[in-house]
Amino acid sequence: MIYLDYSATTPMSMDALDTLLKVSKDFIGNPNSLHRLGGKSKELIESATKQISELLKVKTNEIVYTSGATESNNMALLGVAFAYRNRGNHILVSSLEHPSIYAICDYLESIGFEVEKLKCNQEGLIDFEDLKHKMRPETILVSVALVNSEMGIREPLKMIRQIIKKENATTLFHSDMTQGLGKVPISVHDVDLASFSFHKIYGPKGIGLLYKQEKVTLVPIIHGSGKGSVLRPGTPAVPLIASASKSLRLALQDLERKEDFIEKLNEKIVKELSSYEGILINQTKYSIPHILNISLPNIKPETFIHALEDYEIYVGTNTACASGEVSEGVLAVYEDEKRASSTIRISLSYLTTTDEVNRFLHCFGLVFKRLGSLASKEKN
Ligand code: PMP
Repeated sequence: MIYLDYSATTPMSMDALDTLLKVSKDFIGNPNSLHRLGGKSKELIESATKQISELLKVKTNEIVYTSGATESNNMALLGVAFAYRNRGNHILVSSLEHPSIYAICDYLESIGFEVEKLKCNQEGLIDFEDLKHKMRPETILVSVALVNSEMGIREPLKMIRQIIKKENATTLFHSDMTQGLGKVPISVHDVDLASFSFHKIYGPKGIGLLYKQEKVTLVPIIHGSGKGSVLRPGTPAVPLIASASKSLRLALQDLERKEDFIEKLNEKIVKELSSYEGILINQTKYSIPHILNISLPNIKPETFIHALEDYEIYVGTNTACASGEVSEGVLAVYEDEKRASSTIRISLSYLTTTDEVNRFLHCFGLVFKRLGSLASKEKN
């Protein structure tokens, strides 16, 4: 099997899996319980949270555990919208967001908020002039993903923050950092709120995190009991939290070495795929090498993906959460509907081997020839 869909999700590392199993077996108490077993679980959460806070360079009370980045995004956007409604109802988002951000914005619009999309330039970066122009006194939130999930475009959050705060010091800045964590260096201090998900960094599925700067107020979107978190009441997921902290520590190691290696694999694939007639490489100089997006000429991406499956090769469409739809990001950058509706995403890991890439390229060639000639027969 050749797995090249690492941006959709990653396999768990043995260390993260070991922690998950051990903690599930040995820490049975509910951290909200008053007895010793509860206390033991509570202590474990506290030490995992301390480790995470040190790795992200934040305070422990700035961390909220969630079920994943979808929930973190909801908690951030809805939480800010409800908390700061008296200040204004205007929200700005980039054109390269994950579908979950747009779904939340649709909901916010349905209850009276005004959401505007920011333009991007030909390289996929936020158009700074457009941002300045769209900022208003009643803008309560701007949300920009650190790394776009479709083309891997990395936005300069520090610069974007400066513009936002200069135009309106009270506007909050959120970033969905899900696709950046474990791939590129991150600084949550560029933003006021940040979303993460651990299944993207070889950790368990079903756990994410929201960083919320201490001074930011959020209206809870989940209500319940429990002495733990106000924003996320209920029984904390002790094994998931412990395993998440292990996966974060590992994910942040050797970032540069891993990226250099992945860059070489990316270059090799781009070089070969560029030689095929009609294939378009959806990559700008701000794309990180872990995510490689291409458009296929006259071949349905689903058909292509299933044909590769026959060789036990697994790649993705634009994002796993929007399979089969037009890629919003590719459309925003290239303004070409056909190009944006025929994308596939090849996502690489430091676990990917040169041999896997060679075999992928070989099978890609076979599938491309077969489906390409079928497509041209259909056309004639
Ligand atoms: N944001 C981004 C940028 C993502 O890539 C994903 C996963 N496709 C999500 C949010 C959703 O994450 P989760 O599956 O943890 O809810």
